Amino acid sequence: MNEVAENLAEVKERMAIAAQSSGRGVDEVSLVAVSKTWPAEHVQQAVDVGQRVFGENKLQEGQEKIPAMSDELEWHFIGGLQRNKVRKVFGLFHWVHSIDSLKLARYANGVAADMGIRPKVLLQVNIGRELSKGGFEVDELEESFAEILQLEHLDLRGLMCIPPAVENPDDARIYFKEMVALRARLQERHGMKLPELSMGMSGDFEVAIQEGATMVRVGSSIFGARNYSL
Ligand SMILES: *Cc1c(COP(=O)(O)O)cnc(C)c1O
Repeated sequence: MNEVAENLAEVKERMAIAAQSSGRGVDEVSLVAVSKTWPAEHVQQAVDVGQRVFGENKLQEGQEKIPAMSDELEWHFIGGLQRNKVRKVFGLFHWVHSIDSLKLARYANGVAADMGIRPKVLLQVNIGRELSKGGFEVDELEESFAEILQLEHLDLRGLMCIPPAVENPDDARIYFKEMVALRARLQERHGMKLPELSMGMSGDFEVAIQEGATMVRVGSSIFGARNYSL
């Protein structure tokens, strides 16, 4: 087995243990393999051992990589999304995790209507209330949620977060718990379901799974440390 295949098997094993340790089923959590910065040939090693779902954070990189790979794969856009890229992102990716403001949601809804599609989206929440991070503030999301639900060209599937960087993965647990509580409040108030919670990365995916993540976004634990200078 090559290193990517070995790493992938290990991540899946750790996901299964985390799910079991919290009384959840292994199949309740899906793995988005974050392939950003890695060329198609490297990513193909994961495809060769059965991985089908991948995450990218830049449109341009997706434009190079996605058409070069099997069209059976499912691509998730997880990066900051600028308005002028929405149309191309919707044309290329199957899911968008990073709708991070009411303005962007409204705009994306208009683009989807224009394209005649209903893309699957998640709303990104700035759960750690960090100035440096994008995402809805919790209060803001609760206030604007009724309007977001009216945006009928977006297939709203759930919430996503990137919690503050912490030394010990266990310190991220409070943020994941807050996400679960926020989802519960929204579901109850609006009488609807938000099935997906996209949370957990290489450093903290086990804790995220224990708290209720349905999608984890794992990059470096699968593909290796990224080198941005390449
Ligand atoms: C890069 C990235 C990940 C994966 O990070 P790793 O720590 O390499 O697992 C997950 N989510 C987002 C939004 C990212 O940009």
